[in-house]
Amino acid sequence: MNDEPLPPGLYIVATPIGNLGDLSPRAIATLRRVDRILAEDKRVSAKLLAHAGATAPMSTYHDHSDEALRDRILAELGTRAVALISDAGTPLISDPGYKLVRAVRSAGHAVHTVPGPCAAIAALTLAGLPTDRFLFLGFLSSRAKARSESIAEVAGVRASLVLYESGPRLGETLAALAERLGERDAAVTREISKLHEECVTGTLPELVARYAEAPPRGEIVIVIGPPGERVSASNEELDRALDEALSRLSPSRAAAEVAETLNVPKKRAYARALER
Ligand code: SAM
Repeated sequence: MNDEPLPPGLYIVATPIGNLGDLSPRAIATLRRVDRILAEDKRVSAKLLAHAGATAPMSTYHDHSDEALRDRILAELGTRAVALISDAGTPLISDPGYKLVRAVRSAGHAVHTVPGPCAAIAALTLAGLPTDRFLFLGFLSSRAKARSESIAEVAGVRASLVLYESGPRLGETLAALAERLGERDAAVTREISKLHEECVTGTLPELVARYAEAPPRGEIVIVIGPPGERVSASNEELDRALDEALSRLSPSRAAAEVAETLNVPKKRAYARALER
């Protein structure tokens, strides 16, 4: 592997969210070739850097790091390559970095990204809910009023919602979501890419009941389907309802009636009605 120093600039490097095997060859090469590595927590990142064979000195960086530190980093970037990593996943995504990227860019230095694992995106791939439009909400407030206001603010958004959460807080967050969003389809994804990876699906009230007794351990991403469309209506359910409606009505009327009853898009019901 080429271990030559990299051209000066800031390198945003995504790291695994639980499985070291997900550290990409390009991430390894970048971490080996930079002159300094900025990390959230040096102890957390030491293991990963040893695994990558990276030996550059590490410094701690947070977005609330003082201006003096940011100025030192900017001065260094004129001649040296500096990587930014977070404890896990993609820097800047519910993690520090955006203020640094903005400052580096406005100082005229290069910014490169080495993309990789991100819990929000990984959760969307597991949930089986619509992914064409999604809204990432990060962590909701732990204060009940602020949390409920945030949920109300996005209740009408026609997109899947993606939220970060921890095991102990899952129950109360699900309850608040169910109270405001009702029967929407959702998924609780947990420990993605680790030994106990799981994805539990159901409506929000079903998930509230599922986790009422025993809060799960580990790291969690909640995905909630868009409003007004129960994506869980299976083709079998749809066909049964259509067969019955088609015995009484024209295809377009049957499709309209079934779309209304099962809360599925009219287009889907009509296409299926024409096939029956
Ligand atoms: N920057 C990270 C990323 O790209 O996903 C997220 C950092 S944020 C501080 C940490 C949160 O991400 C956790 O509380 C959890 O909600 C989510 N998370 C991280 N790793 C996860 C995993 N392996 N499985 C499920 N959720 C995870």
